[in-house]
Amino acid sequence: MADYDVIVVGAGNAALAAAVSAREQGAARVLVLEKATEALRGGNTHYSGGLFRFAFENPEQLRPLVPDAEKEFPGFFADVPPYSYDSFWADLQRVTEGRTDPELAKILIGRSYDTVCWMKEQGIEMEPAIMLGGVRIGDKVKWTSGAVIRAVHEGVGLSRMWFDIAQQREVEIQYRTRAHKLIQDGKGRVTGVTVQGPDGVRDLSAGAVVLGCGGFESSPAWRARYLGRPWDMAKVRGTAYNTGDGLRMAFEAGAVPYGQYTGCHSTPIDADAPPFGDRELTDKTNRLTYPHSVMLNNRGQRFADEGEDFHLYTYAKMGGIILNQPGGVAYQLFDEEVIPLLEPRYSTGTPIVADTLEALVKKLPLDTDQALQTVAEYQERAGRDGWDPMKKDALRTKGLNPDKTNWARKLEKPPFYAYAVTGGITFTFGGVHVTERGEVLSVGYEPIAGLYACGEMVGGLFAYNYPGGSGLVSGAVFGKIAGAGAAKA
Ligand SMILES: Cc1cc2nc3c(=O)[nH]c(=O)nc-3n(C[C@H](O)[C@H](O)[C@H](O)COP(=O)(O)OP(=O)(O)OC[C@H]3O[C@@H](n4cnc5c(N)ncnc54)[C@H](O)[C@@H]3O)c2cc1C
Repeated sequence: MADYDVIVVGAGNAALAAAVSAREQGAARVLVLEKATEALRGGNTHYSGGLFRFAFENPEQLRPLVPDAEKEFPGFFADVPPYSYDSFWADLQRVTEGRTDPELAKILIGRSYDTVCWMKEQGIEMEPAIMLGGVRIGDKVKWTSGAVIRAVHEGVGLSRMWFDIAQQREVEIQYRTRAHKLIQDGKGRVTGVTVQGPDGVRDLSAGAVVLGCGGFESSPAWRARYLGRPWDMAKVRGTAYNTGDGLRMAFEAGAVPYGQYTGCHSTPIDADAPPFGDRELTDKTNRLTYPHSVMLNNRGQRFADEGEDFHLYTYAKMGGIILNQPGGVAYQLFDEEVIPLLEPRYSTGTPIVADTLEALVKKLPLDTDQALQTVAEYQERAGRDGWDPMKKDALRTKGLNPDKTNWARKLEKPPFYAYAVTGGITFTFGGVHVTERGEVLSVGYEPIAGLYACGEMVGGLFAYNYPGGSGLVSGAVFGKIAGAGAAKA
């Protein structure tokens, strides 16, 4: 008899969803391998904002998830716009420039609501996501579409709740235990894992193995190989442990690579953020109110349309755009008028402040003459009337390169503020190819018996960009599927 029915590699949202799902589907002995120490457990999930994007036709469908929402946000269920299957589909298609795999997208979107409900049933507590999913103007909150619910206590809470649930379901967890190699029998079936832990190297056998151990964002060597320069030097927003181990093991077992290997999720973060995520600060180094800023690189030039869309539809590519500027830095300039709109996360940083725009620019370590000219040109073409942060207001510049196509307001009200930012990598888009049952496909396009994958390891869903809040739901959807498939195998 095998040592375990199912071994799950990794201990983030996807892996723990898989482990709990495997138990639910009848696997008696489920083992989770976590490479990190207990203190550093939980992968990127711990650092996340805990935001969930899922499709729902009627906001009343949110009531079972957040029954107390109206205590804090009166009228919540009336104010939240519905987010249909078609809207999620259109957003995913748009931001990935049509490169999302339609079969995988169908699974993600079609099962998103049911899976979030399943998470709730398992014991994941949720609340309205005011910081990421809402814009507060005075005492009114405008909820964005699709991503309005998050885990209580964000990623820290989500990770803790998953570990508690796994323990209640008698899932065994081995910390500081790194999966090193997949064991295969003579027919190629995966029958276990060679692990390295505190007691040395061991072979563990299992009926099936689920890989949920993240992408390669934390390895500079892998980043250099697939993403190229300057990604090897990027700061990592989350865990240090996602170094491509699962992908390497899967390839060695014959898996076919899938998805955009040159692509990743990367966001604007504080230029002084640490090299890897901070367990306490988690995602609070993000700097995402740039649609209401003017962004300059250190040559004093604008380089992106800050107002292309709401930040949840551009932030995952904006980090890469910033990282590719000279020195990998940029400055977000604001005036006092928009300071009430700044995400609370800006409070973890210290802005440079001045009474005039000119004085502010002169305080920044960039090409001053060019920056003064860039700002003057922007001010000349920017407007005043019709500015509306609650919608894409089409208040735009004309004739700049690049133009700012929404929220192009003149910066007029002193004082003026600048925040220095860089691009931090979140996770990578390249992965393995999974079937609708979560099985990993081989280079011969046949499922590798006994091998399943979920979470960041699933390639093909995201390319170029990503709609905010999709990663955790994708992890849970494919984790639940993979765990169930592994239990049955
Ligand atoms: C700062 C930040 C904020 C984010 N905010 C959001 C958000 O609000 N909403 C959203 O949807 N997404 C968000 N994301 C993305 C989201 O966190 C990830 O997509 C998701 O957590 C990935 O889950 P996962 O289980 O695939 O990987 P992870 O949670 O990263 O888990 C991978 C696990 O594998 C382990 N591991 C790695 N190698 C091995 C090995 N060889 N052996 C054993 N274990 C191994 C790791 O230690 C870890 O436990 C955010 C990410 C970051 C970094």
